[in-house]
Amino acid sequence: MGDDFSEPVKRALASRVGNLCSNPECRALTSGPQEDPAKALNIGVAAHLTAASAGGPRYDPELLPEERSGPSNGIWLCQNHAKMVDNDPARFTVELLREWKATAEAEAKSRIGKTAPAGSAPSFDLKVGDRMRIEPIVPRCAEQAEWMLESNSGSCYLFQKLGASGRVEVPASFIEKVHRFGGSTPALVQLSGRLQWTSVGQRWLLLSEKPPAADDLGFGRNVDFDHPSRMGYPGSLAWCREDRLAQVLGQGRHIFYAEDGKYLRVAGPDIDQILVSDRP
Ligand SMILES: [Zn+2]
Repeated sequence: MGDDFSEPVKRALASRVGNLCSNPECRALTSGPQEDPAKALNIGVAAHLTAASAGGPRYDPELLPEERSGPSNGIWLCQNHAKMVDNDPARFTVELLREWKATAEAEAKSRIGKTAPAGSAPSFDLKVGDRMRIEPIVPRCAEQAEWMLESNSGSCYLFQKLGASGRVEVPASFIEKVHRFGGSTPALVQLSGRLQWTSVGQRWLLLSEKPPAADDLGFGRNVDFDHPSRMGYPGSLAWCREDRLAQVLGQGRHIFYAEDGKYLRVAGPDIDQILVSDRP
């Protein structure tokens, strides 16, 4: 028997994305009325990021049963896309599904309590080819980087990081404000959540929480020393005492950000250790 999701977990997963399919190319509404006025129709499925039982798609033997059936292992999808991701786990990796989930939650958060736009998303004064800075970004040093608007579909902006291969798609509903300074100064795009670098997938993720403070590393998570090797993280990794972090980062190492965008720490008796990597 697999570790299936409980009803409260399913309801939470559905509500956290506004009852829409989390596939960014779908966003189908998964609930609606039935003929019986007391009943609602549900075509949504709480799909597993990693399978409920051994042999299933993306199964992770390291997870505890309660983690396997917990909300962090689930993603809300329409029936079609729940089938699709389970039939093709090589294409729909845990990484990609986490990205879908984070973006769907960020979009739902940015819309909550706001009047639905009349058929169109808010539009900003951004033109293809424009250069801009984006904030907030974790790690914070990336806020100095410039991006270029590569394309604009009206509801979504595709930004390309200058001098790097990084790209990120930002829904218009996720943009809080655009500041223009005139001349050749790049514009500043302010997000309603944060843009987060992940060291594992070497890519950018949109997440709904803003980083706590201007000089912060973002959000941390407590793990044990064996966690990185258990997870098979890439690159050369090392634990660094928190009081020597600035020095070590100055030597060209980078804070390691896990697949959920959190940096990893091991709590010590006197001082905590933080995971650093040779890759950005
Ligand atoms: Zn769908």
